[in-house]
Amino acid sequence: MSRPKKHFGQHFLHDRGVIERIVAAIAPQPGECIVEIGPGEGALTLPLLDAAGRMTAIELDAELIEPLRARAAAVGELQIIQADVLKVDLAALAGGGKLRLAGNLPYYLSSPILFHCVAALDATADMHFMLQKEVVERMAATPGSKVYGRLSVMLQLACRVEPLLQVPPEAFRPPPQVTSAVVRLTPLPAAQRPDPALAPVIGALVRAAFGQRRKTLANSLRGFADAAAIRAAGIDPRARAESVPPEGYVALARQVASANLQAGRQLADNAGAR
Ligand code: SAM
Repeated sequence: MSRPKKHFGQHFLHDRGVIERIVAAIAPQPGECIVEIGPGEGALTLPLLDAAGRMTAIELDAELIEPLRARAAAVGELQIIQADVLKVDLAALAGGGKLRLAGNLPYYLSSPILFHCVAALDATADMHFMLQKEVVERMAATPGSKVYGRLSVMLQLACRVEPLLQVPPEAFRPPPQVTSAVVRLTPLPAAQRPDPALAPVIGALVRAAFGQRRKTLANSLRGFADAAAIRAAGIDPRARAESVPPEGYVALARQVASANLQAGRQLADNAGAR
């Protein structure tokens, strides 16, 4: 066993019961394209590999690779990619199929990893991640909750978010200072997701709205959307960011995009008339 490295966010799972519950939640099957992020010493990898027969793991820490390869040899066919997961083209790993992503994520990098995985949503069947409990609560939060925010809106527009179980610090070596939780993310069918062309507008609106979450939307969205556009999206301009459901931001983005389009047309017409 290696000495866990803090700078790689290494907290190795050792609680058999927790490992079994996570593997049961994933329910890996032979033939599936399972990709684990941060296999570490293989606490989840080996039982996943045992069930699936073959899988891929992406690990940044070079020192963990050979011991993991040796442990996996008798269990199944493990492809190990030694890399920073943020630099791996996940969709390419799917090879035309659908990925099942899993991992006890390094907490220092959990949000960037989440958004990197969401960027490969069209090539993904589902994701099971261990994260800080507070992060899972933010991901699954509903409007009106104190922790409902940008992460909740952006993820819920893309996926069904299901918190599955909580995991106490003692389940890890060394124990982290926080409680952890496992969450399942299942991509929504493409037809239920916002038009990808709207994504930059939605991102900008959500960032602006929650950037000043105590202000009314009329104030926090000044420069993006006026009161008339907010009303046209079916939202009270006196409301605050935290009371607007994810689909409210999509409606608002449509208003903003069509107003910009009209302004653009107007400019083009004026230029043509000159
Ligand atoms: N899966 C193992 C377990 O449950 O015991 C280890 C989990 S540990 C919390 C996180 C793992 O992610 C470590 O093995 C760490 O080296 C790895 N890691 C950290 N940053 C990474 C990155 N950018 N890309 C891939 N793996 C990373």
